[in-house]
Amino acid sequence: MKTVKFGGSSMADAIQFSKVRDIVLADEKRRIVVVSAPGKRDKNDSKVTDMLYDCYAKAARGIPFADEFAAIEERYNAIIRDLNLDISLDEEFENIKDAFAHRAGRDYAASRGEYLNGLLFAKYIGFEFIEPASCIFFNDNGVFDPDATYPVLSERLKKAGRAVIPGFYGAMPNDTIKTFSRGGSDITGSIAARASGSEIYENWTDVSGFLVADPRIVENPEPIETITYKELRELSYMGAGVLHEEAIFPVRTAGIPINIRNTNKPSDKGTLIVDEAKDGSRFTITGIAGKKGFSVINIEKDLMNAEIGFGRNVLRALEKSNLSFEHMPSGVDTMSVIISTDALKPKQTDVIDEIRERVHPDVLTVEDNLALIAVVGRGMKRTRGTAGRIFSALAHANVNVKMIDQGSSEINVIIGVAEDDFETAVNAVYDIFVKTVV
Ligand code: ASP
Repeated sequence: MKTVKFGGSSMADAIQFSKVRDIVLADEKRRIVVVSAPGKRDKNDSKVTDMLYDCYAKAARGIPFADEFAAIEERYNAIIRDLNLDISLDEEFENIKDAFAHRAGRDYAASRGEYLNGLLFAKYIGFEFIEPASCIFFNDNGVFDPDATYPVLSERLKKAGRAVIPGFYGAMPNDTIKTFSRGGSDITGSIAARASGSEIYENWTDVSGFLVADPRIVENPEPIETITYKELRELSYMGAGVLHEEAIFPVRTAGIPINIRNTNKPSDKGTLIVDEAKDGSRFTITGIAGKKGFSVINIEKDLMNAEIGFGRNVLRALEKSNLSFEHMPSGVDTMSVIISTDALKPKQTDVIDEIRERVHPDVLTVEDNLALIAVVGRGMKRTRGTAGRIFSALAHANVNVKMIDQGSSEINVIIGVAEDDFETAVNAVYDIFVKTVV
């Protein structure tokens, strides 16, 4: 069987509901359906989850919230009307308003978006509704509890046969509602896929999977057909976000692949995320991602190489200011530490003073406006000359490379360039690996 999860834009209104029903019914194996709350219907619209947070913020401060709540009710009532559903949520709305007035909690408030949408979609498609608070559990620290969840959820799904489960939330040991972090319906989908022993976890959204590069930077980039979890992790870290990061873990350990699909283009194959890919990717690289907004602390000291504990002392200075670093390229008598500029700026003076005090460098400078680019691909490991191609492409594009780092897994090369060169650099790498092949 297959577990299918539909995101907010796929569940935003009656038209989307009917597309989703068609998709589910088109494949007999699609039996477990996880739904998000209604998302944006267009660019200027609001997500129901955001409306719920705002509305509850008022309720919790004792400010009247009837108008805000009425707007939320209308999102659901419009779906009921447009689909001619024989259901009324009026009693549910009254209960929720009452709970808001009694300060039932932010997580409870946010979870109602998925809950109500789950009720509607279950009715519309004729599958059983499963309440996540009765089968998805968190521990006392608010961390998902797999041991408590899987036996109960597996049993529940087996009994139902075909089911709709709201995403995003479950219950704490004291029975209060707890949500995952934002975008967390992806995690519910992954948990349900594992609990039901599904052969695949289809995650339906509004794009046809991952693209080799960001379409805002590269014109019309090629889609990624297959990507491994490790590659995805490298790319997501650098900003290529389609799936919640934590959604990988439940299915990964169970060997269940994830297929990212597009509700609005159901015939597109999307991207398949697998543990181990049998073949290489279409191109030597699988994807390119990157971010601006990094700073480099450059440290120089004669005979640094002979000074035991130098690196540790520098890192201790960062630790003292609670700063995490991205990379640490070094030379014989030089060492650089790359840190997100936003994180560094408020603490820069303290950290610099601390480094000076601990290691007495000859030169200590901070350079801003660095961009990092990750070139990721399982194909890089077995292809000689990949690094050579990357750097000659950058040289031809007249981009100065400020930093290079290759992970030990050999599936990623990280390049630091000036922010002004970022777009040119991404395009140069894309062109050399993809355009020359297509
Ligand atoms: N509705 C929740 C959010 O907007 C969860 C989700 O859609 O995955 O974050």
